[in-house]
Amino acid sequence: MEKRELVIVGAGPAGLAAAIYGRRAGLDVLLLEKGVAGGQINTTEEIENWPGVEHASGPELSQMFRKHAEKFNTEFRDVDVSKVEVRGDTKVVVTNKGEIEAEAVIIATGAYFRRLGCEGEAEHIGQGVSYCAVCDGAFFEGEEIAVVGGGNTAVEEGVYLTNFASKVYIIHRRDEFRADRAAIEHALSNPKIVPVWNTVVEKIEGDGLVENLVIKNIKTGEVSNLPVAGVFMFVGQLPHDECVRGLVDATKGGWIKTDDNMETSVEGIFAAGDVRDKGLRQVVTAASDGAIAAMSASAYINEQVHLRSVLLEPEHVVALFYSSIVQEQVKLSDEVDSLAKKKGGKVALIDGYRNKRMADKLGIESLPALVEIRSGKVTGISPVKVADDIAPFFK
Ligand SMILES: Cc1cc2nc3c(=O)[nH]c(=O)nc-3n(C[C@H](O)[C@H](O)[C@H](O)COP(=O)(O)OP(=O)(O)OC[C@H]3O[C@@H](n4cnc5c(N)ncnc54)[C@H](O)[C@@H]3O)c2cc1C
Repeated sequence: MEKRELVIVGAGPAGLAAAIYGRRAGLDVLLLEKGVAGGQINTTEEIENWPGVEHASGPELSQMFRKHAEKFNTEFRDVDVSKVEVRGDTKVVVTNKGEIEAEAVIIATGAYFRRLGCEGEAEHIGQGVSYCAVCDGAFFEGEEIAVVGGGNTAVEEGVYLTNFASKVYIIHRRDEFRADRAAIEHALSNPKIVPVWNTVVEKIEGDGLVENLVIKNIKTGEVSNLPVAGVFMFVGQLPHDECVRGLVDATKGGWIKTDDNMETSVEGIFAAGDVRDKGLRQVVTAASDGAIAAMSASAYINEQVHLRSVLLEPEHVVALFYSSIVQEQVKLSDEVDSLAKKKGGKVALIDGYRNKRMADKLGIESLPALVEIRSGKVTGISPVKVADDIAPFFK
């Protein structure tokens, strides 16, 4: 089976940033993408909040990202990943063109906005139909716009949009919002917010840009026109978590949980970007996640490869696991090192505090500990108080 160091699934801003950082850290990086590199931003005409680029279209920014990753010789591959599996100590990425074994994997598969599904929606995306208030709100300065939805996102983003729009209609199919009370009160006390209850959008009209919504009151059946310059859909966002569903911990909605290092509940599998459980889903936060994930993956790979070659591959190893944050243990490690040398032997000194994962794997419960390993198998673990405790190993 093909073996790689770092396999990244998804070439959106998170995956591309991870590739740049991974390559610069000297890793062998394979970037897998089933669609077009750049991800979701390919579907927008305007990006105004990527620092350093005052204005670019989504496809232009995508190209810049891709070129940047190519500059560091990232290998791209056009495949669809169906599954990531853990087989023993290895991770296997299953694609429609074969399986790849990886030291570490970054899931950067992004998310998607649930479409409303009404007539005229698809052809007006980026022409007044939007799924992201932070991204597109500023384009509607002084205009009347609509929001569709009734949950927290719809209500809160509706309020955010009043920073730009002169009026924000919130169109909801029920007669009250499903958002929390504070958010509802905040919205309803804003004079620019106009709720439109018991109503659905039947059609979005406009020659090029959005000009009008055909709406229907589901209680009375009355159909009417609502002239607006834009409509924001907040009827749900979903993660592309399919390839790791059930493998890593996630929220109820499928958003992948990670720690601050972007590591998931499975060691060596990281997640970055919109697919993660987080507050702000934007290009800048996706790229930041990707950078962190790549550096964490690099540390993980180096740690694993180094520890494997020092501890598990040789025929016989005696190792002292100590804690680098306990002064007496650092002193003990120095003493053990010089005593071993004096006796013409060698003790591998491993910082068990920083390499806790390996210490846990070997079954070391407390530090400092002297560990004997034969051909990758632990044959003894004993506590150590003074350097002389290593003497029995050098008879
Ligand atoms: C219309 C629109 C406008 C936006 N405007 C802005 C804006 O102005 N500013 C801003 O900061 N953000 C904006 N965003 C949000 C921004 O695009 C996202 O936050 C960002 O793209 C997330 O990056 P990502 O890498 O996490 O995921 P994505 O961009 O979603 O990329 C994920 C990639 O993974 C690939 N993939 C998924 N599953 C698989 C699989 N199984 N196998 C292989 N490949 C897979 C996908 O094809 C995709 O290319 C906008 C989003 C939309 C939809």
